[in-house]
Formats: sequence, structure tokens, C-alpha cells
Amino acid sequence: MNGQRAVPGSKEAIGPREARSSPCRLNGCFHCCEGTEMPLTQEDVDRIAALGFVPGDFLVRRDGWLQLRNTAEGRCFFLSNGQCSIYPDRPEGCRSYPVVFDEGGKNALLDPECEHHHGFTISARKASRVGALARRLRRERMERMSPVAKRQDEQ
Ligand code: SF4
Repeated sequence: MNGQRAVPGSKEAIGPREARSSPCRLNGCFHCCEGTEMPLTQEDVDRIAALGFVPGDFLVRRDGWLQLRNTAEGRCFFLSNGQCSIYPDRPEGCRSYPVVFDEGGKNALLDPECEHHHGFTISARKASRVGALARRLRRERMERMSPVAKRQDEQ
């Protein structure tokens, strides 16, 4: 699921897999949950941790971003038997995917790396949501990268 960081991204309040006619369901596809780079908001982390998961187990820190961890097999920590084991609580980016934002953060687009992206559309509402998510992720990263936040993180 590359392009997630630009997104995010990655995956509307009603995710693609919830719709019976979604390209994901129709094609039995979960490739976007393999090799994930899905960035997480602090709210995502707190929500998932409240389920009993340890953040150190399911996330990695990379250059100020918090991202979903992949298993040794290269799949999202939460992917189990081709299904998301935390679906109702999955990250915001996972809800919007394959709508992502370009690297400049100005244009919403369908991730061309999703092999079924032609089956999706970008509504104005979804573009707005993903834009807000992209801004939030960048803001949280900047806060994390601030000297004060970095010191606190190291303690
Ligand atoms: S959290 Fe769920 S929907 Fe998101 S990448 Fe992992 S398995 Fe897929």
C-alpha cells in the first residue's frame, strides 16, 4: 500500500470492504494490507491500544511518522486470514484507501498501486476527509519532530 504516507490516506467512514459491491470484496483482494506503510494518527494509536494491543507491537516510528508494522511475512500486523482483525477500529487512512493525496498534499487521487482503483470514485466528501487527515498527520509529525517532543520521546 504505497502512497499511503502521501495520503493518507490510506482506507470514508464506510470503508470499501463494507460495501458488498466493493472492488475489494468482489475480487477477494487484500493486497493493500500487504507491505503497508499506513501512517497512524495519535487517535488511531490510542483507539487500537484501548483494544488491548501494545503500541510497540503494532507500530513503527519512521522519520517522525507512526506507521502500521508489518509481520515477518510482510503483511500488516492486523491482517488475519485475509481479513482485518480490527476492522471497526482500523486506522483512518485504511478507511479512505485507495483515495490518497499526492506528495505535495494538494490533490486527492486514487492510488495507482491499487490494482482495482478504477472501481473506486473520489467524492468531494471523501477528498475533503482525506485532505483533513493528510494535514493532521503532517501536523502531528511536525509536533513529534520538535526538539521538545523529541526529548520527551527519548525519556
Ligand atoms: S489495519 Fe486492517 S485495513 Fe488497515 S492495513 Fe491493517 S489489516 Fe488492512
